[in-house]
Amino acid sequence: MPQAPDAKAAAAPVMSEEKPAPKPLKSTLNLPQTAFPMKASLPTNEPLRLAAWEKDGLYDQIRRASAGRPRYILHDGPPYANGAIHLGHALNKTLKDFVVKTRTMAGFDAPYVPGWDCHGLPIEIKVDEQLGRKKLEMDPVAVRKACREYAQKYLDLQREQFIRMGVFGRWQKPYSTMDAEYEARIAETFFHFFENGFVYKGLKPVSWCIHDRTALAEAEVEYEQHKSPSVYVRYKLTSDPATIDPALAGKPVYTVIWTTTPWTLPASLAVAFHPEMEYVAINDRAGAGDLDQLEPAVYIVAKELREKVELACQLEDSDEIPLATFPGSRLEGTTFAHPFLDRVVVGTNATYVTADQGTGAVHTAPAHGVDDFATGKRYSLPEVQYVDDAGRQMHTERFGGSTAQPYEGLSVWKSNPVIIELLKEKGALLAASEFEHSYPHCWRCHNPVIVRATEQWFIGMDTPMTAPDGTASTFRDRALAEITRVKWDPAWGQERITNMVATRPDWCISRQRIWGVPIAVFLCSKCGEPLKDAAINKRVVELFMKESADAWYIHAPEQILPAGTACACGHTDFRKEMDILDVWFESGASSHAVLDVDADTQQAAGDTDQRADLYAEGGDQHRGWFMSSLLCGIGMHNRAPYKMVATYGWTLDEQGRALSKSLGNFIDPNLVMDSLGGDIVRLWVASVDFREDVVASMPLLKRLAEEIYRKQRNTFRFLLGALREIDPAMGEERAFNPRPLTDGGDSVPFEQMQPIDQYILARAAELTKKIRAAYDAMEFHRVYHLLNEFLNSELSAFYLDVLKDRLYTYPVKFKAGNEYQRELYIARRSAQTAIYKITDALARLTAPILSFTADEVWQHIPGKSGSVHLQQFPTSEDLAPQSAYTAQLGADFEVLLQLRDSTLQSLEMFRANKNIGKSLEAVIVLNVGSSSPSRNLVERYVLALPELFNVSGVELVGIDEAHTAIETNRVSSDPKCDRCWRHVPDVGSDARYPSVCHRCVQALDAIDFPPYAATV
Ligand SMILES: [Zn+2]
Ligand SMILES: [Zn+2]
Ligand SMILES: [Zn+2]
Repeated sequence: MPQAPDAKAAAAPVMSEEKPAPKPLKSTLNLPQTAFPMKASLPTNEPLRLAAWEKDGLYDQIRRASAGRPRYILHDGPPYANGAIHLGHALNKTLKDFVVKTRTMAGFDAPYVPGWDCHGLPIEIKVDEQLGRKKLEMDPVAVRKACREYAQKYLDLQREQFIRMGVFGRWQKPYSTMDAEYEARIAETFFHFFENGFVYKGLKPVSWCIHDRTALAEAEVEYEQHKSPSVYVRYKLTSDPATIDPALAGKPVYTVIWTTTPWTLPASLAVAFHPEMEYVAINDRAGAGDLDQLEPAVYIVAKELREKVELACQLEDSDEIPLATFPGSRLEGTTFAHPFLDRVVVGTNATYVTADQGTGAVHTAPAHGVDDFATGKRYSLPEVQYVDDAGRQMHTERFGGSTAQPYEGLSVWKSNPVIIELLKEKGALLAASEFEHSYPHCWRCHNPVIVRATEQWFIGMDTPMTAPDGTASTFRDRALAEITRVKWDPAWGQERITNMVATRPDWCISRQRIWGVPIAVFLCSKCGEPLKDAAINKRVVELFMKESADAWYIHAPEQILPAGTACACGHTDFRKEMDILDVWFESGASSHAVLDVDADTQQAAGDTDQRADLYAEGGDQHRGWFMSSLLCGIGMHNRAPYKMVATYGWTLDEQGRALSKSLGNFIDPNLVMDSLGGDIVRLWVASVDFREDVVASMPLLKRLAEEIYRKQRNTFRFLLGALREIDPAMGEERAFNPRPLTDGGDSVPFEQMQPIDQYILARAAELTKKIRAAYDAMEFHRVYHLLNEFLNSELSAFYLDVLKDRLYTYPVKFKAGNEYQRELYIARRSAQTAIYKITDALARLTAPILSFTADEVWQHIPGKSGSVHLQQFPTSEDLAPQSAYTAQLGADFEVLLQLRDSTLQSLEMFRANKNIGKSLEAVIVLNVGSSSPSRNLVERYVLALPELFNVSGVELVGIDEAHTAIETNRVSSDPKCDRCWRHVPDVGSDARYPSVCHRCVQALDAIDFPPYAATV
């Protein structure tokens, strides 16, 4: 509302300078009455409402009321339990709450079971920090207990904060990945993969964080700038140069490799050349310090990179034409001497070699690169790995230790300069410099990571499997096929996850930590082979179910294994695998641990499509939870676990920067709730299109609270006020009774309502249709805009404005036999009926967003009880029939409202020229020609026009023209009614009430207002 209508109307008669009416006349105006406060006080009132909801068991009431309706399952992605919530969490949970509430009110049975992700490295690291040296003396069970307590503390904290936001759900029984049953289900999911041949253990180069001493998943690696040494190193050819090209016979030949990781050189086993790329052999007339040779050295490099290498290594090659040119295939099978170790390095071919940078000859350490590893496999190179968990060079120790190397025992980073020095000493270094480049870092500790071959457990992406239609497929192809059955919103999500699945390497599921679910496999202590026995696996699952996964750390193998268990090799002694599962596997397993087993998260029993209806998380989860859930779903049930995946963007400030404490633009949603209210956070979420990156700042949230929310609230307050009045006879407050007039109530049937009331109901019906469609499409920002536009433009600026005269001045009762009085009475009830229906509809339609305020509104609507959240959305038919009549009404009002706009403009001019003070002093002179298309329309609505224009009279002048226009308005010459302030000829027509108009006489007569003298 632009202004408080009640205040204006109440104050005005007192301030009137003309002869004042007897004072009590004012008391006969039916001004809005409501206990709904103007000031929201959300920070103090919302917690009270939450307490009432909890006391009433509102969520359970909704569950019971929804029983038997079609199901809608939104499966919650578990947030990580290690801190207070931030605005991203608030966005996440509020969006989900919007979905759950809108589906519930649209007639679905939509339970919400929140969950938490509780295992994993960040918590274990925090607990490590807290325990300090004490951890060294603690057994794993005690460390796990400390981790569990830490996670539980933050689960509880976040739960309180999510509840405070007004999010409905099964908060007293959420799922948590550290529950004993959930841990058992994770193990069960793993065993399912394991028993069906998807799992293998192998030495593989993985991204390895030496700070956290663990392998990192692809999703855990981030790229940051890093300074590395850049070295060019020559490898001396030891095989016969003539086999490469006759021109090289008898010459001292080298190849040159370029690397930014000198620490990998101790593991250098091969040099890779592209088989089809052209290589050249060039002379170095500078000699490069070859004291033992008379002839200049010859270098083999890629033809395309020749000049770059000459420049970088300061080679002096005077020959334009190289000594020889040959394809890389000629170098396969050659041998070179390792630059400082007594080792043969073999020449290999590999198609990943490019001429983008370097020399075209790629130093290959199979332990330290994914491509290198593949080359090592193809050429059956030995599997060597000299770098230990802590990233130290343990070359000698592993290698038999004949000659201690100067870098022995150093971290890989510290070994770099030592190795460069060694290369120099050995005459193998051609150039060394620093190189800044984008380099993988650990997402947790932000230290640079290395690639290192380790023993890990994998799920093979190309494991053969059968599609549900019986055709042969692979795990990867099944995942790709399932992606196409899912609706992705926004649509680009499909391409993103498709590309990720198509190109991803095998899923490394092992981690070398304690806080998680162990890969509960028994390994033969003799041959190292894992036991693969479904009955034993089942025993482990049951054990975890009973004792949690701690059981793995408590019991010895022989306490778990049945007596007489033997390996295929005959051995009967086993050890436990102590690696734990990747946390992505754990949360991905929620499709089994929650959806498969929790009745509150399942589709109806008879439903053939048991997939959840919706997963909704941030757009970075395509490589995270959406991916791991997809893979676990296919592993367990050969299908994706979801029908639809929705993603939201990042939360940024107005300059497009991420919100962070260091930038000073961080927003703590808890502080917003404590200062502005939970409904303001919710309103903010509704105001943004979540599919894009969304903007948040404290000034923006304050604007939402002080402008948008306040306007909405004041409009609701006016609506509610119109539904109550003081009964003038009894002096008591009386509420609008929604029962029909014919049944002792106040509500007027649609056919008998005033056209303007019918029209606004038709508009509200249209709004209902649009809002419900927007909710169905999860376009909450559309709801937000539709709602504000309706409240501001249609209600506040138009309907409620023109309604004041009728609401305040028309009779609130009538005497039998007085037909005019009765007509006026019904006209007033007509307005209240429209307001009642609109308030009822708006409270329901806004309930998913303004969950606190809508409930407060609901409880102030006469005749309502319980919570708005137990209601269903209105249909458009609840507001107005969808008929030819209402369609015509809409068309009529389109013209009338245009006429109103021009009238208001002309009145504004009239007022500006000091002709009138208030618009009620004016008479509008409307020229509607007899052949104007509006003539008929204006005649039909002529009685409604003064109300529509908020003037005392409308005069039609029919000049014989085909146009409609406002002529010069005139000041009314009629006397002013002291009660309604209209200037009308019939003021004083009744001797009992000499200062009021005939219409106001009806209002006074109806309540037997005492007659009064003409003047005081
Ligand atoms: Zn790390
Ligand atoms: Zn064995
Ligand atoms: Zn009057």
